[in-house]
Amino acid sequence: MNIGAKRIAILLTFVLLPGIAFTKESRSVPFEKEKQTAEASIEAHQTDLIQLSDEIWGYAETALREKKSSKALADYAEKQGFKVERGVAGMPTAFVATFGEGKPIIGILGEYDALPGISQTASAVKEPLVAGAPGHGCGHNLFGAASLGAAIGIKEMIQAGKLKGTIRFYGTPAEEAIGGKTYMAREGLFNDLDVCLAWHPATEISSDTDSSQAIVDLIVEFKGKAAHAAFDPWDGRSALDGLEIFTHALNMMREHVKPTVRMHYVIQKGGDVPNVVPEYARLWCWLRDSKRTGVDELLERVEKMAEGAGLAAGVEAKVTVQGGSYEMLVNFAGQRILYKNLQWLGPMKFTEEEQQFAKQIQKATNVSPKGLNTEIKPFNEHPGEPQGGSTDVGDVSWIVPTIHLSVTTAPADAPWHAWPVVACGGMSIGHKGLVYASKALVATMVDLYLDPENREKLRKEFEASANGTVYKGYIPDGPPPVPED
Ligand SMILES: [Zn+2]
Repeated sequence: MNIGAKRIAILLTFVLLPGIAFTKESRSVPFEKEKQTAEASIEAHQTDLIQLSDEIWGYAETALREKKSSKALADYAEKQGFKVERGVAGMPTAFVATFGEGKPIIGILGEYDALPGISQTASAVKEPLVAGAPGHGCGHNLFGAASLGAAIGIKEMIQAGKLKGTIRFYGTPAEEAIGGKTYMAREGLFNDLDVCLAWHPATEISSDTDSSQAIVDLIVEFKGKAAHAAFDPWDGRSALDGLEIFTHALNMMREHVKPTVRMHYVIQKGGDVPNVVPEYARLWCWLRDSKRTGVDELLERVEKMAEGAGLAAGVEAKVTVQGGSYEMLVNFAGQRILYKNLQWLGPMKFTEEEQQFAKQIQKATNVSPKGLNTEIKPFNEHPGEPQGGSTDVGDVSWIVPTIHLSVTTAPADAPWHAWPVVACGGMSIGHKGLVYASKALVATMVDLYLDPENREKLRKEFEASANGTVYKGYIPDGPPPVPED
């Protein structure tokens, strides 16, 4: 290149750069006009959605007790013209809200249960709103309201004749306890969906290609024979001995399982007083691995272990599976569509006050005061093993192609299931996450309604990765354990 040409090249660069910077190309997506309409609909409802979220944040009802929370969402859906079926799958706080008719049928999941004991005001210092009361430490108040918002966005487009099909919002209770979705799955409530979407409050924005862990939840009981522990202990058989042999064996097994396995338990009953040979002992245990097949293997080993422990102690052993979940079956085709829409929406915007609020929480919880993550996490084509943690969205993902989103609603690295999440979920940081999630979900649904090829891609990948697996949840026969009060 001679000097003359170089000069021209430099000149061109200067001329072209502002042009590139101002072009809208980087934000362009398919069906942009329709997405703008959907975005405007979220904005039109955002005051109501935030109010709904704050209301549910205030109720802070725990698993299967979410009466006021589910009513607030179901009533709003009904007011918007959805047909609402309440109390589905034997759970008074589960509901399905439907609008439109015919195919495609797209579902969107909403949760609203809180966690016990972590009540907190919407402030940057640890300060319970009601000492000892529950709080929304997983941000499910935002989860339910944002998903309903996205469903309303689609409903308005169906109503206006801009797209065809059915939108269904699933009010799914008790994610934190029994996994309400597994009971809804058992009833076949997700079977006719073409695609399902879900999101979760988080400390970052991402189109999630990470899976979650599969889990089984079980109770191990031992029944022995009581006797005076000093006068005639030879007449007794200790249920606690059985339990101790069992936990010893379980803990020895840790050396002989894959590093992806997690096993944790609590002893719920181990006898009453030292001078009575314990007649009854009970342990609650969760087994997890990256895949359901791994958990099935663990369960088989643990069942034998309980039997062996019972034999050794001369007591009866019983293992009862209470529930569990599959790992997330990630659908990359769906996640790519979502990712494009995140790029179209762009990073989140927080004010200086909001960043300061986040930093104050980070200092209080001894994590680096980096503030809030506003950027979209790069798409991860090759995720490794999932981090610890499970969700009942995993079950849905084995029935229908499922897309999963995470959105910033709390400070980076802040402890989860803890007061910082409650605090941010009740103020503008969480509210912004709610609106952002709603927009990302509605834009993604526009792609799914308007382009049948997108749905086809998701379905093909789903069939290839499920590889003929027929969904069968872990929950036992019988109704869900709904509390009486
Ligand atoms: Zn959660």
